[in-house]
Amino acid sequence: MFNVETIRQDFPILSRKVNGKPLVYFDNAATSQTPQQVIDVIVDYYSNYNANIHRGVHTLSQEATDLYEAARHKIQAHFNAKHAHEIIFTSGTTHGINLVANGFSSFLKKDDEVIVSALEHHSNIVPWQMLCERTGAILKVIPMNEDGELILSEFDALLSKNTKLVFVNHVSNALGTINPIEYIIKKSHEVGAAVLIDGAQSTPHIVPDVQALDADFYVTSAHKICGPTGVGMLYGKEAWLKKLPPYQGGGEMIDEVTFEKTTYADLPHKFEAGTPNICGGIAFGAAIDYMNNVGFENISVYETELLTYATEKLLEIEGLKIYGTSDKKTSVISFNIEDIHPYDVGTILDKLGIAVRTGHHCAQPIMDFYKIPGTIRASFSFYNTKAEIDALVEGVKKAKMMLS
Ligand SMILES: *Cc1c(COP(=O)(O)O)cnc(C)c1O
Repeated sequence: MFNVETIRQDFPILSRKVNGKPLVYFDNAATSQTPQQVIDVIVDYYSNYNANIHRGVHTLSQEATDLYEAARHKIQAHFNAKHAHEIIFTSGTTHGINLVANGFSSFLKKDDEVIVSALEHHSNIVPWQMLCERTGAILKVIPMNEDGELILSEFDALLSKNTKLVFVNHVSNALGTINPIEYIIKKSHEVGAAVLIDGAQSTPHIVPDVQALDADFYVTSAHKICGPTGVGMLYGKEAWLKKLPPYQGGGEMIDEVTFEKTTYADLPHKFEAGTPNICGGIAFGAAIDYMNNVGFENISVYETELLTYATEKLLEIEGLKIYGTSDKKTSVISFNIEDIHPYDVGTILDKLGIAVRTGHHCAQPIMDFYKIPGTIRASFSFYNTKAEIDALVEGVKKAKMMLS
């Protein structure tokens, strides 16, 4: 049974005060909070089996290696990858995207085309622009509509036999729109293009099945799903990962090194140069266990309830406009009130202990589309409550009164 009050007890940070008020944490799309179960795993690692992995014959090294590899298997099972070696530990979504973009430098030539969407986070735009600069490939953009949805007929028109790669997010971090990636993947494959899905915003809410989706690459960060910062995963189909050149050179990723020639290690180690974030990887596995214990079905039902409630309550405030009005969205509300600057509202909310995001949310093209400098973004997680939403609504009303 899902009981939010019981769940909240797992998160020590939720009982702290900010500016003398109980913390209301609505910046979950930037990073999620960490439950005690995951904190315990981190403390246990450094207290009991901190050691470098894969190379030691000693007991600590073997224990750390076993736990790290067990985490890889947990991630494999969670995302339904066919093989554990298709899961590459990264430092996060940004690293995963850069790894793939760098690898595609070897495959693209001048005038090849790659397609991005108008709804992307900068980390799924900039690495590809760099790739295009290196190779002479052309970047095309799937446009969006007023509701914050991708215009699929325009996407269809962009596809051709020149299209080599398509990269879109599963869920937009700025608006919460859930993109029709099944369609995008299917259509891209029809012209022989590979697809990378940025799953940083979907994985806290949805369990993607990478085989059913037929995604070529799927990336996410642990810190968006109750895990620590500085660790994430890149899923890649085995055939692609075998073809892609390594990203970084160093220890761990080699088979044999001489000054004449180095041969690379097998997957996944070919892409895991240097000492990884061992503790982070293990804690990532623990975070996935935690989320599965809460249950994604429960999470989905409850977060939808929060989203509906918050949308209704906020829209009662005169002059408040919500950006991102697709009926397929996660529990994210991006909004502005009249011409008041989002930053000023955010500052007043902080005085009330309420944490929201203000600004362009690393998605400037979306703000340009709406011709606004930014929004106030409240993003809800399964540990938030309706009482907290009431506090937000009161806070926004107060800010509006003070600022208009
Ligand atoms: C957070 C986020 C990223 C970046 O993740 P990092 O952990 O900072 O690498 C990329 N894309 C989306 C959609 C995000 O929400």
